[in-house]
This record gives sequence, structure tokens and C-alpha cells, in this order.
Amino acid sequence: MDDVFRRPQEPYTRELLAAVPRLDATHRPRPGSGEPVLKVRGLTRTFPVLRGTAFRRGVGTVYAVDGVDLDVRRGETLALVGESGSGKSATLFELLELARPEGGTAELFGQEPGSLGKAGIKALRRRIQIVFQDPMASLDPRMPVGDIVAEPLRTQGVGRADAGRRVRELLVQVGLDPAHAERYPHEFSGGQRQRIGIARALSVEPELLVLDEPVSALDVSVQAGVLDLLRRLKEELGPAYLFVSHDLSVVRNIADRVSVVYLGRTVEAGPVDEVSAAPRHPYTQALLSAVPIPDPERERKRTRILLAGDPPSPTRRYEGCRFRGRCPLYVELGEGERELCDGEVPVFEGDGVACHSPRVRVGVELPAGGGLVAQFLPQPSAGGAPSAPGRLLLPHVDTAPGV
Ligand code: SF4
Repeated sequence: MDDVFRRPQEPYTRELLAAVPRLDATHRPRPGSGEPVLKVRGLTRTFPVLRGTAFRRGVGTVYAVDGVDLDVRRGETLALVGESGSGKSATLFELLELARPEGGTAELFGQEPGSLGKAGIKALRRRIQIVFQDPMASLDPRMPVGDIVAEPLRTQGVGRADAGRRVRELLVQVGLDPAHAERYPHEFSGGQRQRIGIARALSVEPELLVLDEPVSALDVSVQAGVLDLLRRLKEELGPAYLFVSHDLSVVRNIADRVSVVYLGRTVEAGPVDEVSAAPRHPYTQALLSAVPIPDPERERKRTRILLAGDPPSPTRRYEGCRFRGRCPLYVELGEGERELCDGEVPVFEGDGVACHSPRVRVGVELPAGGGLVAQFLPQPSAGGAPSAPGRLLLPHVDTAPGV
């Protein structure tokens, strides 16, 4: 099997391996400059937990977003990264409501949507568009593709003839045949449907394109084509991207900067090459160590950071750092530092890291070669009583170039 990966003979196998996104991608990030097109500070969003059938009653609260900070600058791609349930999609939908956020602030193009009237919101909607994860679910199966792509234009008052002309241009731009504008979504492949979704989002020339896991439902070779398309469109048209993904190898191939969220809160942000090569927050280190390498020999030698347990429940309020129950570093800290982790929520600022430990803040490397055994504190049980501490192998984080 190693030979297939190291010396693939068939052109198809070579193409397939070349399409796999890698952490050692040569993509050179180009962080944007100037005023952010999107500036978010301390965003929060909760949902009620309801019980009962005939009479629904609130029995709790889900803290889905609980302190997200984001800056997307003009012309750049910011990736929002985290595990499932970390609050990435809830953050997007809170922003896309274009209303006053439940908590914190959100500015789009220097304006707070909550302070705008109907006309202001309509103008803002043209400047921000979204591409969804599942292209089939996001396209109306009863509408021809031409009408789907034209819909945002028609909503903005563009006439039928002009919209038709623009649709043909857009289909060419995303690599589709304009003669297929009369076909229906089911007549296209998954990758083609995602291209239709991109054409639709670009129809009104947005300045910020929100991409919600746009390639995670696609095969690896199709995924590479869509990522290439997104890169080319950004070069040609210049919108900023907010790219949501759980896959750090995809992110390394397309983003300029990355922002990592854990349980609804930003824990680390920075240029994507720096964060990929030298992640500072223990959670980011664990995420990166879990990215597979398309080289079986190196993959076998690699050790992973296995975080204890699942993320804690978002229905509970936690004092201090909410990552401490899974943090491999916590047990290494002195008493004073642990007290901080237990009692104070670490603050996130700018391109930095939310952690009390000076070792993390200045980016001290974890021991090379692995083998350090660290204790971890298990998650508090439902009743809040901690169970016995466990142990965890804390390995070397193999994220250097060449991985
Ligand atoms: S604040 Fe403490 S518990 Fe949280 S990540 Fe940093 S070292 Fe770990």
C-alpha cells in the first residue's frame, strides 16, 4: 500500500493524490488590509431548551455562541474552524440575520445592521451572500438553474433581459455551459450544483461571501476543483471570504487567516501559515494533530493528541476556561496558574490566543518526540462532581513544513 501512495503509477491515482488537501500546501496567504468588512466582538447567541409536547416549557438554555470575535478584512479569506457543535454555523446565522445581535457587536462594512432601516438592510443583503454546505438542499428542485441564479438579481430589481445576460456570464465564470440554464438541479453532479450555488451568490457582486462548509459534501477530486474555482474568483472579482470548515487541511489551502472556536468562543486566531506551523492553544494543537497525512509511513510514526472526552455540554455555564477539562497543559501548571484557569475566562484579543498560561501566550513548543504523559481532568459529571483524573499521552505536534 505504501507504494501506491509514494509511487503511484496510474495517472488517475496520481491525480487523486494530488487533489488531497495537505497541511504543507504551498498556498501563500495574503492577509487583507484596511478596515474590516466584518468586525465581530463578543458575539453571543442562546437558544431555549424546550420539553413537553402539548405544553412546551423552557427547561434550560443552549449557549451556542458565547464570545466569538472575528475580523474579515477586504479581499482576504478568513477561515472559521472548530469541531462539530463548536458554534460555527450558529455564528453565521446570527450574523446573516442582519439584526441586532443578542449579545456583543457585529459591524458589516462599518455599519451595525441593527441600527439600519428596511432600505439599509436591503442594500446590505446585496453586499453579503452565502454558499451552503449541501448544494442539493440549497437549490430549489422545481426551478431551472437559470432562474435560481437570477433570483437574487430579480429581488434587487434587475430586469429579466439583463438578469438573463448576467446568468449566462456567471455560468461561464463558474465553469458551466450557459446552454444548460434550462436544466434542473437534479440533472447536475454534486460539484456542478455547488458551482451553481456559487454563481447564484456572486450574481449581485457581493463584497463578502460566506462559505458554510462549501466542499465538505464533495469527493476529494471535485473538492479540489471547487477550491481552485473559489481561489480564481477571488483573484478576479476580489470579494472577501468567510470560510467555515472543520477541516484544517482544506483551510490551509485556501485561507489567509484562521480563527479557531471552541464551545462557542474564540480561542486562537492568526495568519494561517503561522497557526498551522506553530499552533499555540492546546485545542488548536489537538485539531491539527488529528489531520491525516496522505503518507502511510509518516502517518504510522505519528502520535496524536487525544483529548479527553467530548466537548462539555453547551447547556451549562462554566467558570474559568471551558477547555480545562480536556487541556493537556492544565496538569503541568503551578497552583497559581491553575487557579486562573479555574476561575477566570481567558480573554481573546486580536490575532492572539485565549489562554492564561504564559507558555501558550508566547508560543513555547511542546516537547519534541512525544512520550510526555500528562494528566487530564475528566469532564464534570451531570451532578457537577469531578470523577478521578485520567492520563493522556501528550505527543509532539508534527505540523512542521513537509507534513
Ligand atoms: S487557560 Fe488553562 S486550561 Fe485553558 S487552555 Fe490555557 S492552560 Fe489550558
